[in-house]
Amino acid sequence: MRLSRYFLPTIKENPSEAQIASHRLMLRAGMIRQGAAGIYSWLPLGLRVLKKIENIVREEQNRAGALEVLMPTIQSSELWEESGRYDDYGKEMLRIEDRHGRNMLFGPTNEEMITDIFRREIHSYKDLPKNLYHIQWKFRDEIRPRFGVMRGREFLMKDAYSFDLTPEEGVNSYNAMFVAYLRTFARLGLKAIPMRADTGPIGGDLSHEFLVIAETGESEVFFHKDFEGMESLVDFPADAEGLQAIVNEWTTPYAATEEMHSEDDCPVEGNNLIRGRGIEVGHIFFFGDKYSKPMKASVQGPEGEMLNVQMGSYGVGVSRLVGGIIEACHDENGIVWPEAVAPFKIGLMNLGAKNEECTAFCDVLYAELEEAGIEVLFDDTKDGAGAKFKNMDLIGLPWQVAVGPRGLKNGVVELKNRKTGEKEELTKEALLAKFTA
Ligand code: ATP
Ligand code: MG
Repeated sequence: MRLSRYFLPTIKENPSEAQIASHRLMLRAGMIRQGAAGIYSWLPLGLRVLKKIENIVREEQNRAGALEVLMPTIQSSELWEESGRYDDYGKEMLRIEDRHGRNMLFGPTNEEMITDIFRREIHSYKDLPKNLYHIQWKFRDEIRPRFGVMRGREFLMKDAYSFDLTPEEGVNSYNAMFVAYLRTFARLGLKAIPMRADTGPIGGDLSHEFLVIAETGESEVFFHKDFEGMESLVDFPADAEGLQAIVNEWTTPYAATEEMHSEDDCPVEGNNLIRGRGIEVGHIFFFGDKYSKPMKASVQGPEGEMLNVQMGSYGVGVSRLVGGIIEACHDENGIVWPEAVAPFKIGLMNLGAKNEECTAFCDVLYAELEEAGIEVLFDDTKDGAGAKFKNMDLIGLPWQVAVGPRGLKNGVVELKNRKTGEKEELTKEALLAKFTA
């Protein structure tokens, strides 16, 4: 992509409305713009990151055997009346009346709708287990939307719903999602710690929140320092025992959010306990027949008896993750994207935009990188070198390639690693070989 044709409205000064780094940097890097409180438009650079995160989440859901569907954002109130949550959900639910006076709502979550889909189509234990998920915009009329996309009102969530015959099988589905989450966050370049959590309005008894540790996290968290040495990019196990073993390993060291922690009962000795702040990026629940019972989602069991299905639900805050990753990956100059979610891999800068030879060299290099399937943002503008470097640091692409008339005399370009700051000079051929190897 040529910057001269792109839409990247960057901002030099810190926007006064932004209190935390990720919000500031997303505005400054031209990733998002606010439409109304907690409601954002995603501009090209931001959307690329959102899509990359979405895709990693999707790949790991698929790997775990979940099946993608797409449910609507607008729902009818009827199903929520059946489950009893139409009244319970309170003011966070955005209620809408259609032209015929019917009560509609903008979905804050989809337990009711998926349970309805399930009960209409699936009637036998032979069709279980099933896990259906979608990646769709949600609306929650948060009392205090803040921190940009971290606590929005409209936000993108991946929500999966599992259906099993027995509680044991239900726990197995839960474990599969637990492991999928470990893998997902690791692939996103994050360390997310699973913590025993309160089940809140979703209900049920087994639940974990996944939290990324960051100073600006909204929740106070407590965890054993053993987590620091644990590697969460685990192989996805082939069977139930393998899944349970990983879950056991990751739930053995103590980790709890503020609501679940009690100073007096804490099992960890002083020095081993880390007290920090965390960003909730995922939340999983196993709640048995909480919805299947009132909504009569049952299947015929092996003996012919009707059994309420055992359900779980599994959320990932896809849009929140964009901010969460920036909170974990930035420095004083801007964003430092992990490669897996970077909007482009390389930022190519022509430092001699007024020099014909330099420009011709850059055009060829750009074409060759594109040809090799590498995502490049090519700053081909007439801006000064200083401004170009500043802008590249701000938007945080993992690699920067600076091409200037001086280097070209010696046949070299400069490659910089955004994260380490390391620089090296190399020929065009060596550069291409490095990125196409
Ligand atoms: P929180 O405790 O942060 O309000 P929640 O417990 O209400 O979140 P869940 O119902 O568990 O959220 O939703 C699943 C995931 O969706 C959360 O783990 C979080 O990552 C994301 N999420 C929830 N609310 C928001 C929001 N207002 N803005 C952005 N992401 C959100
Ligand atoms: Mg939660």
